[in-house]
Amino acid sequence: MTQKFDVVVIGAGPGGYVAAIKAAQLGLKTACIEKYQDKEGKTALGGTCLNVGCIPSKALLDSSWKFHEAEHGFKAHGINHAGMSMDVPAMVGRKSQIVKNLTGGVATLFKANGVTLLEGHGKLIAGKKVEVTGKDGTVEVVEADNVILASGSRPIDIPPAPVDQNVIVDSTGALEFQTVPKRLGVIGAGVIGLELGSVWARLGAEVTVLEALEKFLPAADEAVSKEAFKTFTKQGLNIKLGARVTGSKVTGEEVEVTYTDANGEQKIVFDKLIVAVGRRPVTTDLLASDSGVDIDERGFIFVDDYCATSVPGVYAIGDVVRGLMLAHKASEEGIMVVERIKGHKATMSYDLIPSVIYTHPEVAWVGKTEQTLKAEGVEINVGTFPFAASGRAMAANDTGGFVKVIADAKTDRVLGVHVIGPSAAELVQQGAIGMEFGTSAEDLGMMVFSHPTLSEALHEAALAVNGGAIHIANRKKR
Ligand code: FAD
Ligand code: AMP
Repeated sequence: MTQKFDVVVIGAGPGGYVAAIKAAQLGLKTACIEKYQDKEGKTALGGTCLNVGCIPSKALLDSSWKFHEAEHGFKAHGINHAGMSMDVPAMVGRKSQIVKNLTGGVATLFKANGVTLLEGHGKLIAGKKVEVTGKDGTVEVVEADNVILASGSRPIDIPPAPVDQNVIVDSTGALEFQTVPKRLGVIGAGVIGLELGSVWARLGAEVTVLEALEKFLPAADEAVSKEAFKTFTKQGLNIKLGARVTGSKVTGEEVEVTYTDANGEQKIVFDKLIVAVGRRPVTTDLLASDSGVDIDERGFIFVDDYCATSVPGVYAIGDVVRGLMLAHKASEEGIMVVERIKGHKATMSYDLIPSVIYTHPEVAWVGKTEQTLKAEGVEINVGTFPFAASGRAMAANDTGGFVKVIADAKTDRVLGVHVIGPSAAELVQQGAIGMEFGTSAEDLGMMVFSHPTLSEALHEAALAVNGGAIHIANRKKR
């Protein structure tokens, strides 16, 4: 007999699994379909984020940062050590264990919440039915009142550098190196390229990043992207801007990459090459020709502000739809959709999705940049506070970067918080909470912040917006 559900979710990434759990919590009979299998051939939940994205990359970033600090930072604290070495397989093994724990955790949450897991490939067919093809090829059709498409994204391939997952790898392959490559190339100076490049640079690789654009981190506030470029370069990342990769030739265990820059055609040889030129939506065999769901010109499933597709009762969330390709955006869309299915009035604050690059220093922001606001003709006041003036940052010997708060000159409402520095992601989140409730710079400035904390830098930057910072000379006078 055909199984029937209130909600069927296709894809168990941070969009899909969160939506499924929320739906079950709200009393909806829910199934989630997932096809991904780990190296042992077991279905693994959690999508890109838990398996080959956010979590494993952060595990390697944290391990490599500890090694880097031990090598370069401990001396300043009076800690002397000798004979330190890096066991790369152990580091990668730790990462894999974390992935296993977390993906297993999602399976446990499914059981605890009563979400039915259907293992296999899901395809939406007409009439809100979903065809599930299991590992063994068996096909089952399930029916649903509501279907949520959450099939995510995958790395973009570029013809000049075809991925072989040996010498030329994508982000997934770059999480599995068993030795530190001597010469590592990275195509693309986006978030993923910078994070993965940093991991291997900290462990001793000579890293060259080839970026086609002339501008570094174009989405970030210019003050932040300039500081980031300066800092990453000082750390040893050789970032070549305006360098478009046009070809590559693998010979044995090395690759010769051809790129063009202002001086014409150039060649460079690497031991490993990471292709990190962005991600594209996954819609392969997801929609039957009569499903009725529209896809936009870039391959994303077309949705409105509430993630509704062109078919009533069919929704799409996360990386497979427009907007930032971020796990928290996917999850919140999932929650919004399920709440709306339940008849609740839920919306998403698309303007307040924080972005983070987990390098060291971290780079994070929420809201608009100074350049965007000026281009929009908004009059603004800006307050900046350097971590060099933060007692907590000094105690930690981690004083690079700054916090920048931008407020509307007329209303004092905070319009953007931009941070480069230690714990930038956490500081920006505090700004995001305030901005969600329409905070003014003065409000933030009047709050009591614990001392000594890095958060005080946010407090002082907010005070500086109106010329009231205590621990630096204010650029703006009251
Ligand atoms: P996905 O996580 O891609 O999940 C989709 C799932 O659907 C997959 O499991 C897939 O197997 C399954 N699926 C697809 N089609 C079908 C089908 N037809 N039937 C059944 N199952 C199907 N984001 C952050 O917010 N913070 C970070 O720090 C961060 N770091 C990242 C680092 C790396 C190296 C990478 C690659 C990505 C990173 N991201 C990060 C991005 C983040 O992983 C994605 O934005 C997020 O996973 C998107 O969630 P999703 O649920 O939309 O899709
Ligand atoms: P993101 O989409 O943020 O992950 O960034 C990917 C980056 O890769 C973008 O900044 C692109 O400009 C860059 N890129 C794409 N194709 C090439 C190429 N052929 N050579 C160098 N950089 C590229």
